[in-house]
Amino acid sequence: MRIFISADIEGITGVVHGEQCSPSGGAEYTRARLQMTKEVNAAARGFFAAGATQVVVNDSHGSMRNIYIEELDPRVQLLSGSPKHLSMMEGINADFDAVAFVGYHAKNGDFGVLSHTISGGTVHEILINGEAASEAVINAAIAGDFKVPVIFLSGDQVICEDIKKTLPNITTAQVKEAVTRYSALHLPLEKAEALIESQAQKALENIEACQVYIPQRPVTIDMVCHNSGLADNASRTPGTKRIDGKTVRAEAPNFLEAFKLLRAMIALAN
Ligand SMILES: [Zn+2]
Repeated sequence: MRIFISADIEGITGVVHGEQCSPSGGAEYTRARLQMTKEVNAAARGFFAAGATQVVVNDSHGSMRNIYIEELDPRVQLLSGSPKHLSMMEGINADFDAVAFVGYHAKNGDFGVLSHTISGGTVHEILINGEAASEAVINAAIAGDFKVPVIFLSGDQVICEDIKKTLPNITTAQVKEAVTRYSALHLPLEKAEALIESQAQKALENIEACQVYIPQRPVTIDMVCHNSGLADNASRTPGTKRIDGKTVRAEAPNFLEAFKLLRAMIALAN
């Protein structure tokens, strides 16, 4: 059994502020990166206990150089650095049996700790075939094009609930309860890690119940920007269509092709 983990930082226990997510945060960031590494280790322990033979983790936040390789479970392989063609899902392929999301967060506009969708400065909303999508849903669709199911997610209560609308049989680990966008009630760290470990094990034991998520084809991705100037820039992406003042549309035969256009749109918008 081969497991692919995509690890973000906003949904890690103890994290509630941008300073904890960026090198400019100094000691605050150091603490969050260490806990991110520990929560990846906890998930990996659960997967190995349930029969995994290989675990690869893709560092999926910001610079994508957050996880401490020195502190990583020696059975886990790290994929780090940026840019990467598939971003948070780089490294996924059809040889994996399952995908897990550690430290994920709510989509922009939702109540939830540090809620945003891919690019906080650009994106108001991303819609897949007309439905608002979190990073978890977007990345589940990338896994879907490789026919790999997403079996596990950890984060706050908002993303743990939201992902079940798309993936009803996913196993989640809620490590904190959002109080506002910048505050949360956290599990003690040892309890959070124990919960992640036991839920990850349960998730792999439940893999047969998990469905691959493949959005209906052809796939439409709408990017709604914060303002029309950003959409002006994004609309210069070849093969995309301006829908209204703030919205640019990518349409493609499958999700991966539409996602490549989305990434180009975001890059140009910035
Ligand atoms: Zn992030």
